[in-house]
Amino acid sequence: MHNARPLPNYLVQRFHGWRATTFADNKAWYRRLSESGQHPRAMVISCCDSRVHVTSIFGADEGEFFIHRNIANLVPPYRPDGQQHGTSAAVEYAVTALKVAHIVVLGHSNCGGVKGCHDMCSGAAPQLEETSSFVGRWMDILRPGYERVKDLPEDQRITALEKEAVLVSIGNLMSFPFVREAVEQEVLTLHALWTHIGDGSLEQYMPGQGFIQV
Ligand SMILES: [Zn+2]
Repeated sequence: MHNARPLPNYLVQRFHGWRATTFADNKAWYRRLSESGQHPRAMVISCCDSRVHVTSIFGADEGEFFIHRNIANLVPPYRPDGQQHGTSAAVEYAVTALKVAHIVVLGHSNCGGVKGCHDMCSGAAPQLEETSSFVGRWMDILRPGYERVKDLPEDQRITALEKEAVLVSIGNLMSFPFVREAVEQEVLTLHALWTHIGDGSLEQYMPGQGFIQV
């Protein structure tokens, strides 16, 4: 006995629409994708936020990006403790099995996860400090970032923390031995991006310059 129910009709209709158009027009391509396996050139780590649409902003087709999404696009530090680590598993598979050439971490404006981290660390959201809060414990990953932005003016703090989320993730990626090795062998590059949802802009982190417009 389980609780799975039929899809709502609007999704069924959209699916049949896709199958009759996009799929029907590219049947051979989908067959080739199916038979030759996936060979994505890049892994993208972005937020679960429904407004962040990495395949749209880069015009990516099926097979191009290996995408992992989680709250606030965070990568935890390397911690081989025998527990279940979804993000670390995705990074491991992308780097050691798929051998992607790039890992792109994409942060975004108005991130609810980052706002939660800000409120938790500033004492405004004590419920997030509880052991039972999955969001709170997940956002602990960004606590070192909060320490770096907490003295900024209030109107700059959240955006700065959203960008810290990307940089903390890049730093944590380098704590994975297989990531560090691939970067040192120059078969993998890491990229730090932040997108402003409202004005459709994209910034990338440049060493020595900070985040600048792409
Ligand atoms: Zn977000």
